[in-house]
Amino acid sequence: IVYITMVAVGRSGKVYEYLLLIKDVTQLRGLEEMKYQFVSNVSHELKTPLTSIQGFVETLQAGAIENKEVAYRFLNIIDIETKRLYRLIQDILLLSEIENMDKQEYGDVKVASVIENCMSLLQEQADKKSVKIVFNEEQSLVIKNMSEDHLTQMMMNLLGNAVRYTDNGAIIITTQENSKQQIITIRDSGIGIPEESIPHIFERFYRVDKGRSRQSGGTGLGLSIVKHIAKLYEIKIEVSSELGEGTCFRLILNKENE
Ligand code: ADP
Repeated sequence: IVYITMVAVGRSGKVYEYLLLIKDVTQLRGLEEMKYQFVSNVSHELKTPLTSIQGFVETLQAGAIENKEVAYRFLNIIDIETKRLYRLIQDILLLSEIENMDKQEYGDVKVASVIENCMSLLQEQADKKSVKIVFNEEQSLVIKNMSEDHLTQMMMNLLGNAVRYTDNGAIIITTQENSKQQIITIRDSGIGIPEESIPHIFERFYRVDKGRSRQSGGTGLGLSIVKHIAKLYEIKIEVSSELGEGTCFRLILNKENE
């Protein structure tokens, strides 16, 4: 806010004093615009699976149900789309919860057990795509004052992406520690991210390849969730990627911030 005081003197010699307040609403407008954009994106994202479900249900009702093979295929699509809707709603709720959250007091988290848990949850999906996940524990990390659920969420999203965007390759997770920092690295040998897209990947619903993300069950919110959890714990995220070679995400925790 800018304050300007003006003094005017009338003909009669009377002194008038004015106070002018100038408020810069650019940032406020920007925020409103962002919220509006988010609501409009959410509506669109929810409508896509719903329209598909509705279409297949109607086709079944119109007679397709008589053909067992077709009916089975359509029900399978309805099942996939319903699960997508569920994941989307879960991610939207999680994102809004994390965004409005203040840091609380937590206990210590053993990083290795979180990583091993995520690896076993993603193993089946990785096997299907011939992707090998390797955990290279150079130093065993214990993060102080962090929610285990939050670290799990971050790792599930990053590892999930690594599996999603890799075929016939490998994912290597490394944990390291020095006197100043704790570092978790997730490196994959997948499709990579074009250089110009890297600044945008943490934006809500931004996808390099919409088709691939959707087809493999992505919600477009995974990295936004990672970014917000990282902010809560002052974790720095570094991304490097080479198209066709793979992608590397590094989570860096400064020890003095613990
Ligand atoms: P999504 O659900 O689409 O994966 P995210 O927010 O998790 O959404 O990621 C945003 C986009 O960033 C993805 O759609 C994808 O294009 C790109 N991306 C994220 N992680 C990787 C990765 N490991 N390899 C290649 N591309 C990635």
